Amino acid sequence: MTHRIVIVGGGAGGLELATRLGKTLGKRGSANITLVDTNLTHIWKPLLHEVAAGSLNTSEDELNYVAQAKWNHFQFQLGRMSGLDRATKQIQLAATLDEDGRELLPARTLGYDTLVIAVGSNTNDFGTLGAAQNCLFLDTRKQAERFHQQLLNHYLRAHAGDNANQKISVAIVGAGATGVELAAELHHAAHELAAYGLDRIKPQDMHITLIEAGPRVLPALPERISVPVHKTLEKLGVTVMTNAAVSEVTAESLKTSNGEVIEASLKVWAAGIRAPAFLKDIDGLETNRINQLLVRPTLQTTLDDDIFAFGDCAACPQPGSDRNVPPRAQAAHQQASLLAKGLKARLEGKPLPTYAYRDYGSLVSLSSFSAVGNLMGNLTGSVMLEGWLARMFYVSLYRMHQMALYGTFRTLMLMLGSRIGRGTEPRLKLH
Ligand SMILES: Cc1cc2nc3c(=O)[nH]c(=O)nc-3n(C[C@H](O)[C@H](O)[C@H](O)COP(=O)(O)OP(=O)(O)OC[C@H]3O[C@@H](n4cnc5c(N)ncnc54)[C@H](O)[C@@H]3O)c2cc1C
Repeated sequence: MTHRIVIVGGGAGGLELATRLGKTLGKRGSANITLVDTNLTHIWKPLLHEVAAGSLNTSEDELNYVAQAKWNHFQFQLGRMSGLDRATKQIQLAATLDEDGRELLPARTLGYDTLVIAVGSNTNDFGTLGAAQNCLFLDTRKQAERFHQQLLNHYLRAHAGDNANQKISVAIVGAGATGVELAAELHHAAHELAAYGLDRIKPQDMHITLIEAGPRVLPALPERISVPVHKTLEKLGVTVMTNAAVSEVTAESLKTSNGEVIEASLKVWAAGIRAPAFLKDIDGLETNRINQLLVRPTLQTTLDDDIFAFGDCAACPQPGSDRNVPPRAQAAHQQASLLAKGLKARLEGKPLPTYAYRDYGSLVSLSSFSAVGNLMGNLTGSVMLEGWLARMFYVSLYRMHQMALYGTFRTLMLMLGSRIGRGTEPRLKLH
């Protein structure tokens, strides 16, 4: 029987891997490649803050799994992995329901010879009182679209009401890259919405508060990047609070452990990650306190050679460091490339290559205003980038993902299409 490789999760890493393996092993008939995802379409997760602010229209940037599978010699199965039976080498998929709650696809099992788990992560609210009930999260396209809809609803209500000059308050918990980028993107959205005539809420009347438990914004990046970013945010009118740990969220406000109360009509939690709960000790595999599967440098899980995990859902050691590989699109992309080679080597009975994270630096987009970041080079060490150049590098991360999925020609066509579209469509999604 042809070797069956099942990849669960078609995100930044899993979809690249399925495409690469399809084009090689799948095309030659050396293996059957199956990708499983809960959705029918893929949108690159680092774009979700733009979806939330309305500056990105998901229908233009989404990829259809069924078509991608057809073009790249792999199969696609719609479903949510809910369990695993290592003894019989099967995964369990829960029943898929349609929008009205009726069963679309029944619960079923899927057999594998090699299983790759790449199901990503969700935001971690650390069990903070009221956070799950009162905050919005940006883990999925649906959640980002929900945020956008709520933002628009505020504007539409203000526009239809009698009171001129209304206000809107947004609080973002977590000043990591996601929180910072969302704050800048929302500021940009406030200007665009006013320019389109929804000007009962003036740009300066959208109050954005960014709340960070640590001593500075972008705690995972070097301090010399935090300082200019903090200054730019303040220049844009964003209130930045540091050393402020949120201890409770209510429908109207957020409370910090040092007693401050921040009133906000829209609240977004963008601090911390954890892997999906169904992974916790799944069929005896080792996991850590945030549900990530423990893997070796080959990306095989610690207790099962036939099961690999990568991306945000895996705790992968970094040689010479006591920290794991960070949960970043950059790492998922590198690991997908390594596994594409590794799984081919495995079929040929050759030793597996091992993964070492290469940090190419981090870039943070401050919407159309600027971008800031550092690039890591072998010879130069870390180079600080700002402004136009940083923005170009930032956009290139997404282009690399598109190249892996579509190849060079189609990526160039997509870039051309979006440039033409910019002249004919509103710059902000208005519905
Ligand atoms: C707003 C935002 C901005 C970000 N910006 C950056 C950035 O600028 N640079 C950067 O490097 N990183 C960034 N990140 C982090 C980056 O998005 C992640 O590190 C990256 O997407 C991880 O890739 P992944 O393949 O592990 O998971 P994901 O890309 O999250 O994909 C997981 C996939 O698994 C599917 N799935 C989940 N559960 C199941 C299940 N049970 N069964 C079947 N399928 C399932 C999901 O539908 C999804 O398609 C950002 C994240 C967010 C939220």
